[in-house]
Amino acid sequence: MSLYIDSSSQLHHDLEKNLVVTCPHCLAVAHITPSAVPRFEDLQLYRPNQVGIVYLCDACHAPIFLRFTVRMYGTTRIELSPQFTEVERAREKFAFTYTPEPVELLFREALTCFTHGAFNAFASMCRRTAQAMFADLGEAGKLRLFDELNGLRELTDISPELFGRMRTVLFGAELDARPGLPLLDGYQAGIMLEVVKDLLYEAYVRKGKLQQAIMVRRFFLDETGSNVTPFVSAS
Ligand SMILES: [Zn+2]
Repeated sequence: MSLYIDSSSQLHHDLEKNLVVTCPHCLAVAHITPSAVPRFEDLQLYRPNQVGIVYLCDACHAPIFLRFTVRMYGTTRIELSPQFTEVERAREKFAFTYTPEPVELLFREALTCFTHGAFNAFASMCRRTAQAMFADLGEAGKLRLFDELNGLRELTDISPELFGRMRTVLFGAELDARPGLPLLDGYQAGIMLEVVKDLLYEAYVRKGKLQQAIMVRRFFLDETGSNVTPFVSAS
């Protein structure tokens, strides 16, 4: 694999065709095309350890900034390591329409932590989100969430070890003698993100959507002024 900037400031990348990221603007998984490469002379003069290149998202044409580590300053080319850092990551989203305000506030911050790669801060905010949910749903609701989480184990192939960690993060006893929450890496945090979204969906969104749909049905029933189902044929 080779990636370098030549003496006329042209970028050469033999795997350019495979360069795909999740665009932080349109959220499509898209190929990106280089649009601004630093000048060879400037890099030779200052010799920074890292080099930034601006790409265009092929899907929405918004700029995407990637940072590369320099491998070597040669006389005719500057070689870069093909691994890059995405300066702006796609924001994680959740539809908060039916979630109570304290839960929304805390889970929004959890999403912000995740987006910025602060995975243990994310886990801590997931715990606070869970605590806000327990406060809102009461003891019976907490037990239901616990069952819900256990039910996910049968639906998915999450490892028992990771499952135990997530349970400790979300349901660990307040007065647990062991200090702190278990640590999560990026992969584990990604799984946890999907699990907490699912718990929020089950606790609020599903119910909210159903109640909304039933309300709309009732409204139209009242409007027609009869109990007759509107789908009955007139003939
Ligand atoms: Zn895009």
